[in-house]
Amino acid sequence: MTCMEAQSSITAFINDEMDIAELEEFIEHIQDCEECMDELDVYYALLTAMKQLDEDRNLSDDFSQELREKIDRSQERIIHLRYNYYRKKGVLMMILFLLTVFFSFYHYFISTEEKNTVTRSQFRLRTSFMEERFDKPREELNRYLKEQQDSTATQTVE
Ligand SMILES: [Zn+2]
Repeated sequence: MTCMEAQSSITAFINDEMDIAELEEFIEHIQDCEECMDELDVYYALLTAMKQLDEDRNLSDDFSQELREKIDRSQERIIHLRYNYYRKKGVLMMILFLLTVFFSFYHYFISTEEKNTVTRSQFRLRTSFMEERFDKPREELNRYLKEQQDSTATQTVE
């Protein structure tokens, strides 16, 4: 912001008619530029005094002090708004980040699970299944049949 621009927005600043971006530029300028700060000081005293007289209020004791407070309040407002902006942005980024993490993990686990079932299961599981389920009973059956044969054999012998 140039001095011309700063000085022409003094009334807007005093009447709180600036948007946040203008306000930020304006405050940045007057804090570095003594000339514009002096100008603001004079205008602030003048305009505020006129307003106070107009509204039949007592005149302030210290316009410079009031102006400093007004500038402080404006700075706080800028910081607050900027903080809110970044906080909102931060929350959004965090949500996106968590979603990304969630989906990559989700995908990771799903794919490893699929891999396990494909590589391990089919053949081995089925043979072990067969051994467990059919061969043991078959052995038992054979043993049983053999025992039966033996007993009938002994019976016939007697
Ligand atoms: Zn200036």
